[in-house]
Amino acid sequence: MNEQEREKWYQYHEAKYGIPVEYLKREYEAELSGQVPMDQPLEIPDKMEVFFKYSLGRQSRFFREIRENKTIYGARCTQCGKVYCPPRDHCSLCYVPTEWLPLEGTGTIKACTVQYFTTSAFIKKVPFICAYIQLDGSDFVMMTNMEVDDVSQIKVGTRVKAYFREERHGAITDFYFRPLE
Ligand SMILES: [Zn+2]
Repeated sequence: MNEQEREKWYQYHEAKYGIPVEYLKREYEAELSGQVPMDQPLEIPDKMEVFFKYSLGRQSRFFREIRENKTIYGARCTQCGKVYCPPRDHCSLCYVPTEWLPLEGTGTIKACTVQYFTTSAFIKKVPFICAYIQLDGSDFVMMTNMEVDDVSQIKVGTRVKAYFREERHGAITDFYFRPLE
């Protein structure tokens, strides 16, 4: 194929599958410019979409309570009484089952960092805070999303409160923390 024909081939496959041209060029330039021997397997672009159900297993109630009741639940060990949040089905110290326990949704930052670099999925959010928060009533810390106007407000020891989004999907992103006013 000459250069003009290759360009058409790229545009056709970009339109057909939504594959970026730079990707097509990287993957198929050798083939289209005749560098791959005739008897070698011919590889062509294709597209696969997969829909599937992902089970949240024994943590399901944690996400349902967030979605339905705007409440963060912890899991309390029935033997030692330690409260896990994020919840655990069994206590990792006693190996006995835990029971569900609603928490207030307030807590304290135990560790935090300001992110100035990230992947493309979060690039519009920089700078943002990643914080480990110990919720009141919990014995463990949870990595959480913070939304603050001024990242310098946030430090270890800052008191925070959970806020729930109007539209909730049963996901960890249904809530975020802000400093307690
Ligand atoms: Zn225990």
